[in-house]
Amino acid sequence: MSKIFLALAVCSSICLYAQPTNTVLKDQAIADLQNQYNEYKTIAFQIWDFAEVGYKETKSSALLQETLKKSGFIVESGVADIPTAFTATYGSGKPVIGILAEFDALPGLSQTNAPEKQSAGKDAGHGCGHNLFGTGSVAAGIEIKKLIEQKKLSGTIKVFGCPAEEGGSGKVYMVRAGLFNDVDVAIHWHPADENGVTTTSALANKSAKFRFTGLAAHAAAAPERGRSALDGIESMDYMVNMMREHVPQETRIHYVITDGGKAPNVVPDFAEVYYYVRHPDKEDVKSIFERVVKAAEGAALGTETKVEYEIIGGTHDLLLNETLAGVMQKDLEKVGGVMYTAEEIEYAKKIQSSFTYKVPEIKTAVEVKPLKKETDKATGSTDVGDVSYVVPTVGMQAATWVPGTPAHSWQAVSCDGTEIGIKGMMVAAKTMALTAIDLFTTPGLIIKAKEEFIKAKGSYKYEALLGDRKPALNYRD
Ligand SMILES: [Zn+2]
Repeated sequence: MSKIFLALAVCSSICLYAQPTNTVLKDQAIADLQNQYNEYKTIAFQIWDFAEVGYKETKSSALLQETLKKSGFIVESGVADIPTAFTATYGSGKPVIGILAEFDALPGLSQTNAPEKQSAGKDAGHGCGHNLFGTGSVAAGIEIKKLIEQKKLSGTIKVFGCPAEEGGSGKVYMVRAGLFNDVDVAIHWHPADENGVTTTSALANKSAKFRFTGLAAHAAAAPERGRSALDGIESMDYMVNMMREHVPQETRIHYVITDGGKAPNVVPDFAEVYYYVRHPDKEDVKSIFERVVKAAEGAALGTETKVEYEIIGGTHDLLLNETLAGVMQKDLEKVGGVMYTAEEIEYAKKIQSSFTYKVPEIKTAVEVKPLKKETDKATGSTDVGDVSYVVPTVGMQAATWVPGTPAHSWQAVSCDGTEIGIKGMMVAAKTMALTAIDLFTTPGLIIKAKEEFIKAKGSYKYEALLGDRKPALNYRD
């Protein structure tokens, strides 16, 4: 008995620290993916062209599903009550490795792939590179499927088609529906202007639309008969802006008035404001959000209007996993960054000339950032956060954008429609495939990652910040 135990203990330490001979598999995966470069480029450009916003990504989702089906995956679409969400599974048994794919565009960011501001004449654009995100993740999944099929790996690969990352909290519904319950590790990536493994957490975020109703009246002839819904919103906003002084330092609150009435000579009987409340800690988000609700109620009382609110989104902060980050770092270093052609350098220079701030050198696109030990301060939010609270999760960024390019800019949309974007996408696809190979071939890694995950999560029991609401399928309307 004790001998068996000892043997297991020795094995687990060897399995963990001495990588099995998976170099051959990794080289094969890199070569295979490179051979498919043009095929994945075509798909990524098609999705870039579709530029469909959250929960309306019908064509983009269908294209990715079709690609996975053709490769032999079993696709389940319309999961978690979301028509454009899907899971694609290949293989059987443990481990189950999940790869996240996104594909939604951003409203109002229409742009061609030119290095100057030039609308493509659409309503939306891929300013966050989710056309690359989705395609790159599908590519990595298909590569792992090939290795399982060739009996070089055993277990299950699962690609998650995750809609509406941009404010729609798509993954939250998928987590809530239990779709990640059998997954051992989730892998993701994100387009960026540099190559590195994710060491930045995310801000937890709760968003809602507050709708005020009042009484319409002629604004000059009978103003005393009217009660302005816009007054309600302005009073609420004023109170929330006062509140900024009395919330924890790292809080972020922002809003847009999505409907402020139609004409100055009509007292608006309806108005709507869309709020985000963010903080690194989800518990703070919950309590600050309650105070925002109080401001809304107070505003309604004082302006004799009525207010109702609808929770639109809610995402957790991101739970990082050092064990997995270390593995992915080595894989990313093996793959390397993005090399530009002379023509691409010219394009990059033009893109960089449009920025008013100091930008990193173009050649940094080829570099891989060293792994940071400390966690960087979170600035954005992502629904990957919710996944990271139910399964050990690891992610990376690849330089799909010219160095210095911020997300959600016309410059990002442009890069996402060029070969620079595709090259960055392939860096991510290869790295994710390599990390998956490590996980399939080194069971000790998953055990260690899970131990770390359980410790980091502590006694927290996952609960969606958006409660039990149904997916906000029309949040972009
Ligand atoms: Zn994004």
